Amino acid sequence: MPRYDRFTEELLGFLLTRLDDESDLEHLVAHEPRRISAAYFEGGGGRAETRGVMFTGCAACSRIPPYTLFPTHGHITVPAWPCPPVRALALRFAGDPEYRDAWRPEVALFASGRLVHET
Ligand SMILES: [Zn+2]
Repeated sequence: MPRYDRFTEELLGFLLTRLDDESDLEHLVAHEPRRISAAYFEGGGGRAETRGVMFTGCAACSRIPPYTLFPTHGHITVPAWPCPPVRALALRFAGDPEYRDAWRPEVALFASGRLVHET
């Protein structure tokens, strides 16, 4: 796998050293992190333009159809990695001293930075 930011690397490492079931590992590979770009519209002040943002998303959960243009950055309602299924996988090890609260399913985020469960 290519290298990602530290937060992503930490959770990947945590899971890879703890998951021992082949189907769990396959599940993780299906939901592996991927650099994804999303286009959104930025208007106001008489100017309007299309901008792009790169984020770490999930290979399975964060698919964006080609030519999608989100109305604003806040509307990028695509899960960021770790996606809810990966967070659910990690939750099994919630009692582990290295488990981090930032991995909890209830704090899953969209690429926009908003909480998935807020909507
Ligand atoms: Zn996923």
